[in-house]
Amino acid sequence: MASSLEDVQTTDLMSELLRRMKCASKPDKRLILIGPPGSGKGTQSPIIKDEYCLCHLATGDMLRAAVAAKTPLGIKAKEAMNKGELVSDDLVVGIIDEAMKKPSCQKGFILDGFPRTVVQAEKLDEMLDKRGAKIDKVLNFAIDDAILEERITGRWIHASSGRSYHTKFAPPKAPGVDDVTGEPLMQRKDDTAEVLKSRLEAFHRQTEPVIDYYVKKGVVAHLPAEKPPKEVTSEVQKVLSS
Ligand code: ADP
Ligand code: AMP
Repeated sequence: MASSLEDVQTTDLMSELLRRMKCASKPDKRLILIGPPGSGKGTQSPIIKDEYCLCHLATGDMLRAAVAAKTPLGIKAKEAMNKGELVSDDLVVGIIDEAMKKPSCQKGFILDGFPRTVVQAEKLDEMLDKRGAKIDKVLNFAIDDAILEERITGRWIHASSGRSYHTKFAPPKAPGVDDVTGEPLMQRKDDTAEVLKSRLEAFHRQTEPVIDYYVKKGVVAHLPAEKPPKEVTSEVQKVLSS
């Protein structure tokens, strides 16, 4: 361990130390981001994650990684994902339960794309009860369906990090490559106008009731997700600092 640390650049060590000192003073936060596909959850998550030192758990990213690696989970999930339908509750509840144990989730988490059904929300409550924890805030990315097709069909992602770009609204510094790693960007198989219809149908029928579930608990903040990205970030910051 000591020898590997000796090999780390002083500037990297210092910035990690500063990051940890900043994080020590941050309050714990357990957040859920809910919104239809393309509403901006994945765009805002890295900003919130860095500000509050949380882990970002996006079930869609985890499932896509499992599909790419052809794991048993990926094989079970692939068909539903390609059709724009939800995968079974048991599959996603299992991966979230496991992921929340990561050391990076020590100060809390951002759940992005989970829970997407009331059953998942109930299971999440059970998981948190066992850990003596609760959800602090649910950010509802409210947006009209009509805006989403252009956002979805222009989206390019960096598969391993989940970073989102858009040809018109958030272009990368160099066309087709990730700003951070320089690796190539890709388009998601389900980011077509056709599959978006099923994904929106699933959102309205199965996920909107989850918003009501949390409204009853008094933890929902509604965000104007149709605004430009920086304005949405300011709204998120207002909600989280209150
Ligand atoms: P989600 O994670 O909710 O599916 P993303 O954050 O990936 O959505 O955003 C979908 C697409 O829209 C991406 O291409 C992203 O760059 C772009 N985008 C995100 N937020 C905004 C915004 N506020 N205004 C315009 N485009 C946005
Ligand atoms: P996303 O990246 O959030 O748009 O998710 C992509 C796809 O993964 C969805 O269309 C579903 O097929 C599947 N998926 C992601 N999260 C969940 C979830 N919580 N419950 C069920 N299916 C999910």
